[in-house]
Amino acid sequence: MMSEETIEKISWKEKFQLSRRAFVLWYREYPALFAATALYCLLNAVFPYITLYFSAQLLNELAGARQKELLIQKIVILLAAEAVVLLLRAVVFRWKSTLSDGTCIYLYGRRRQFEKLLSMDFCDAESSETQALLREVQQTAKWRNYGVRRVYTQFQQFLEALFRLLGGIALSVSLFRLPVRADAGRLVVLNHPGFIGLLVLLLCGVTLVSPWLETVGKKCVIQCEEELKLGNRFFNFFAALMSEDKRALDVRLYGQERFFDQLSTIQSNFGSHSKIARFSRGRMGIASAASAALSRLFGGCIYLFVCLKAWGGAFGIGSVTQYIGAVTAMSGGMAKLLELVGDAGINAYYLKREFLFLDIPNRMYQGSLTVEKRSDKNYEVEFRDVSFRYPNTEVYALRNISLKFRVGERLALVGQNGSGKTTFIKLLCRLYDPTEGKILLNGIDIRKYDYREYMGVFSVVFQDFQMLAYSVGQNIAASETYDRQKAEGCCRKAGFWERVETMQAGLDTILYKNLSEDGVEISGGEEQKLAIARAMYRDSAFLILDEPTAALDPMAEYEIYTRLNEIVEDRTAVYISHRLSSCRFCDEIIVFHEGRMVQQGDHETLLAQEGGKYSELWNAQAQYYVADGAQP
Ligand code: ADP
Repeated sequence: MMSEETIEKISWKEKFQLSRRAFVLWYREYPALFAATALYCLLNAVFPYITLYFSAQLLNELAGARQKELLIQKIVILLAAEAVVLLLRAVVFRWKSTLSDGTCIYLYGRRRQFEKLLSMDFCDAESSETQALLREVQQTAKWRNYGVRRVYTQFQQFLEALFRLLGGIALSVSLFRLPVRADAGRLVVLNHPGFIGLLVLLLCGVTLVSPWLETVGKKCVIQCEEELKLGNRFFNFFAALMSEDKRALDVRLYGQERFFDQLSTIQSNFGSHSKIARFSRGRMGIASAASAALSRLFGGCIYLFVCLKAWGGAFGIGSVTQYIGAVTAMSGGMAKLLELVGDAGINAYYLKREFLFLDIPNRMYQGSLTVEKRSDKNYEVEFRDVSFRYPNTEVYALRNISLKFRVGERLALVGQNGSGKTTFIKLLCRLYDPTEGKILLNGIDIRKYDYREYMGVFSVVFQDFQMLAYSVGQNIAASETYDRQKAEGCCRKAGFWERVETMQAGLDTILYKNLSEDGVEISGGEEQKLAIARAMYRDSAFLILDEPTAALDPMAEYEIYTRLNEIVEDRTAVYISHRLSSCRFCDEIIVFHEGRMVQQGDHETLLAQEGGKYSELWNAQAQYYVADGAQP
């Protein structure tokens, strides 16, 4: 949990470095946007001063000599200057908006995190610490807008405050310079430099204390971080629950609305007895009230000083509005700058967490060898005494695996849940490196190959895959443009073509409703066939199917297996299946038990080994299926 002490632990030097790093990240990505933003902030800051300055001139003329030509001239200048600045501001605003909306800057932080997640070692991407860190970073970005994405907002606010401050100084210099008339009696005291010093001191005092009070308030919010995050999670969950069509049926049938009672969790984290409410009544509320009172008090002092100087004849009545406006804006600008320093200090904590995620190093050996492109798909893979433990675990998920794949062979991996089949595939695809032993492709340790090229040798259909809300053809090709004939061929072989033919736009039919009203929903079994078609489209030497038929009904499963030869073609295929009958057609079956390879051979040979794991599994499955006259 974050507390005030945690924030203090980061030195100001580090806070500055973190903010600078985040700024450079942004700037490198969007230099034009930063230029547009800077110009917009300048125009935005200048505009009120133009009105202030020229209307003061106008008022002075009205209260003074009242020369008609001069009055008209001043009105024209005021209107023209305002029109030019407004027009320019509108043009620059469009430019800035086009740049920011067109480049989706609001997704910038998310995109960086996503890219990092894809490029880091898989073991890190999968680890619960990484996932927890990422969730934390995303939550603070979503709910509090802290993190890398805040830096752009801070940049805008910083420039606006700076320009306000500079403009304020420029327009109020003469306030201190112009003396009260000598015949103004006791008001002459206002000409004393000490008086000016006192006012500047007051200005600095208020400007310093106000943002400090603001930061006190923000720190209180940070101390409620855990409660607020939990409350937001519940809020998010219930908001989703109430809007998701897919859940509506379950909610109705099982009366799940009863769980809505837990909405009280939100109340206890945000309601009148919550920690944040207690802070609001105490420290945070007092800080906020004191900050507002101070700024009003300061405003009062300025009014008094300016009016008395005007009373003493230092300047005309019109200048009163100019000076009051300028000093107030100057003080506001300075306060905002200091508040931003405090805000950047708080943001530094979140930046540190975000960079911790973005800086997770890639520890896996990054090879550079190119994988020889072979049209005959003649690749040989060998596991040489491979053992593997997942990071931060003591138990081996795989033990002493030695195995050679013969090219074009169909290999099945069978075994009970948790016996190590999927882990074997993960090692084969180099999602993890073996803890001991090595895996070789054409005699060379796979770690020496360029990772992407090595991955290109495999097509995998995992159990939990995800299709996208793009067209059927694009999903098959995993690309926006694709070879239609090839996609159709893969669809036919995977048994999905008949379904495509029923769709109005054929291969161009969009899946799901996320991005298109006309999107088509498909069943789990159909998705599985589509995933198989996608794996086939990628012309790789190995086809790995991890429980490819889990979501299929027995008929569809039978259909897939009878097409297996067509699907696999000349590839080397590796299957994982719970249904042993599906594996009967394979050339070689490897039986895993508690992380070890306990048997290896074809179906007949393994079944003949009485007391072996394979016959045990076969007989266990037979109990359930033979009664129906089906195969295990
Ligand atoms: P199978 O595919 O045969 O069901 P797995 O290869 O998924 O088995 O799992 C083998 C063993 O490794 C199991 O004991 C499982 O709990 C463990 N395991 C799997 N994935 C992880 C992981 N990400 N972290 C830690 N242990 C894991």
